[in-house]
Amino acid sequence: ARAKKLLPDTPIAFGNRLPDPTMANQCIENGEFDFWEVCRPLLADPDLVRKAQAGRMSQVKRCIGSLNCLSRLFRDLPYTCTMNPQLGHEYDPAYQVTPAVAPKNIMVIGAGPSGMECAITAARRGHGVTVFERGPDIGGSLAGYARHDLANSDDLTSVVDYYRNMAQALNIEVKCNATIDPKAMRGMLHRYDVAVVATGARIDHSLLPKSTQDGLLVDAADVASGKVVPGQRVVVLGGGKIGLTLAEALRHNQGRDVVVVEAEKRIAGDVMPSFKWRHTAWIEELGIPAHTSCRVLAIGDGGVRIRRADGAEEFLPADTVIAAVARRPNQELFHELEWMIDELHGCGDSLVPRGLTQAIHDGFRLGARL
Ligand code: SF4
Repeated sequence: ARAKKLLPDTPIAFGNRLPDPTMANQCIENGEFDFWEVCRPLLADPDLVRKAQAGRMSQVKRCIGSLNCLSRLFRDLPYTCTMNPQLGHEYDPAYQVTPAVAPKNIMVIGAGPSGMECAITAARRGHGVTVFERGPDIGGSLAGYARHDLANSDDLTSVVDYYRNMAQALNIEVKCNATIDPKAMRGMLHRYDVAVVATGARIDHSLLPKSTQDGLLVDAADVASGKVVPGQRVVVLGGGKIGLTLAEALRHNQGRDVVVVEAEKRIAGDVMPSFKWRHTAWIEELGIPAHTSCRVLAIGDGGVRIRRADGAEEFLPADTVIAAVARRPNQELFHELEWMIDELHGCGDSLVPRGLTQAIHDGFRLGARL
């Protein structure tokens, strides 16, 4: 709008990542710019304009600004898109969504991004799909971490909304607060031909010493979901994406005094290269001390004892210590069901904990071949 005021006779195009054509239309009507120049939103959903025209905006896969596309291009890799697994694979048979030769009844266990993507892809092919989710809502761990993401909270939340809308549009039954175990499975075996285990991953607490103080050590996922509210002084054990996301949000949004402890030389080791700088900058701007190359010796007595690379020990006082170290896949259910159903698959973090892109792509590829 400012550019238009400064240069009223010059046609102005808006070229930034504006994913919503309705908003773009409104801006053009308001005279804020003259053209909507759109690139990445069309990579995320090539049908964006058609869906907008048909009034199906709730079914648009929104570009979430993950920069997977450009980051790969900058490294001379073919571009791919977090939200659109088919991008760059348009002629690859494994990525075609074709009608199922023999429609099956499929149960998907876990309503995180991988499970939902698998469910939606399978349903688009004509399979009957039911999703079972242990928690009260869909979205898996993404839902909690999305709320804490300083840069892309709305974008990440839109992923969960998209899955909700698509499940409804495709008549996928989603059963929340439904725990699947061998006993429950026995009672419903006759109804399903295929089971997909998409139960995600959890923080690997075996990587940390046991806490000697009740309630001091909490799990990152519980903080992300809001189940646990941390105290004023917080030590986050793990300076990867999960730990940094929580540390930054707790400092920025809730004014907590946060310290990060990381075993490696640098923080943000599992963050994509294009966003590492962002976390490094935020940590500095927000005044979050990051202790790198540190080993956790003990948790308890009101804090954490660490040892630095030079051998010096330090005690970090804390009201809450958040475990945000590496994750391990939730594979127990897969093994329990192995001898119960003919066709059993795993996907997403329940195979190997990775990022959102891999979870979505795993789910898509599996749904496309069931
Ligand atoms: S990879 Fe990310 S930034 Fe690029 S188009 Fe897809 S969602 Fe948007």
